Amino acid sequence: MAEPQRIVIIGTGLAGASAAGALRERGYDGDLVLLGRETHQPYELPALSKDFLLGNADHPNPVHEAGFYESNRIDLRTGVEVTALRPADHVVVDSSGTTHPYDRLVLATGSTPRSLPGSGAHTLRVVEDAQAIRAALEQRPKVVIVGAGWIGCEVAAAARAHQADVTVIDPVDLPLRRVLGPTVAEVFRELHEDNGVHWRLGVGVEGFEPNGVRLADGSTVPADLVVLGVGAKPNTGLAEDAGLVIADGGVAVDAALRTSDPDIFAVGDIAAHDHPRYDGRVRVEHWANAKDQGAHVAGPVLGDDRPYTAAPYFFSDQYDLGMEYRGLADAERDELVVRGSLEDRDFTAFWLRDGRVRAAMNVNQWDDGEALQALVDERAAVSPERLRTGSLS
Ligand SMILES: Cc1cc2nc3c(=O)[nH]c(=O)nc-3n(C[C@H](O)[C@H](O)[C@H](O)COP(=O)(O)OP(=O)(O)OC[C@H]3O[C@@H](n4cnc5c(N)ncnc54)[C@H](O)[C@@H]3O)c2cc1C
Repeated sequence: MAEPQRIVIIGTGLAGASAAGALRERGYDGDLVLLGRETHQPYELPALSKDFLLGNADHPNPVHEAGFYESNRIDLRTGVEVTALRPADHVVVDSSGTTHPYDRLVLATGSTPRSLPGSGAHTLRVVEDAQAIRAALEQRPKVVIVGAGWIGCEVAAAARAHQADVTVIDPVDLPLRRVLGPTVAEVFRELHEDNGVHWRLGVGVEGFEPNGVRLADGSTVPADLVVLGVGAKPNTGLAEDAGLVIADGGVAVDAALRTSDPDIFAVGDIAAHDHPRYDGRVRVEHWANAKDQGAHVAGPVLGDDRPYTAAPYFFSDQYDLGMEYRGLADAERDELVVRGSLEDRDFTAFWLRDGRVRAAMNVNQWDDGEALQALVDERAAVSPERLRTGSLS
């Protein structure tokens, strides 16, 4: 495979900016263009629903320091909407009609939060969204959050810190149940309840009124501010229109993050990855995945086709609870083993399948990260007794 002379990356989020940095780190010396819709230099999203909403930070963390792009000859073009991808011609086209030729292309277009048309509700993805929600929270409004996933739970915690009256609505009977299963999800239900959140669980939203949210049981929850946390949709439109293979809602990539076109790669939220360590494809919307796939893809783009093998990892902070999750489990089906105290919110949860560790989540425990990573990476066969009370290493 000939060395590329010109690489274009679409998407100035964490995955795209990490890919650009890694290409230079690996010694790529040719043209490198990073195109993105946002008008800011690339920044990280997690703080938007945490320190930024809490008022502890006024700016999100940049992916790279100011000056990085210039000093690494990365042609960062912000405020550019890419409208078409023409693989046969090896060009992408932006909304001004300008064409950008490439030898290799990296798609890193991320996701868009799902919205409910006509709701007038806020969603949270970019810094402007967070600014608007924070300004509203400072008025101590009645807040209704639709969706008890990670974003919904983190926004609830931030809103309570502003002493707002907070109700969270979800048709499922427990927050985060799909990822954590009923036993661990109950810890999060209690956490929010202890911090003054009103739950409306097991009931769906029927409609939005000027002063509130109408539920399927006929009741209305009054609201000055409504925030939606009902998931995100990967931005696969460019890839789809260009005829690339789409799978499991994302852009299908092989083990080395290459799409169905040999010169096009996809990373981050949009990549439906043929992960060598799991059956079926893995597509996750996590900070570490965007950062690490972005860094990894520099290899395959330059002809070093090593597979991406990292297990998924994510984290969350809510009130005084911090957690990290490593691996990939089916919480409704896998065996749950708990080390420590669920009641004190000081524990590590393990999910086992066929006696082997599929995932581990440490809550307010920070000493065993490496050991947990090894157990997940090795899919270690460890007895539940040892996981509960024995040595983890
Ligand atoms: C509020 C919030 C909090 C989060 N907290 C956590 C957390 O605590 N832990 C965790 O693990 N994960 C967290 N995540 C998830 C994590 O941040 C994302 O998975 C990760 O940032 C995805 O990075 P990405 O580069 O793939 O996508 P993005 O960051 O979405 O970047 C994609 C970029 O591509 C641009 N783009 C898309 N289409 C086009 C186009 N046609 N033309 C030009 N540009 C385009 C977009 O504007 C965007 O800037 C959080 C996400 C959010 C929104």
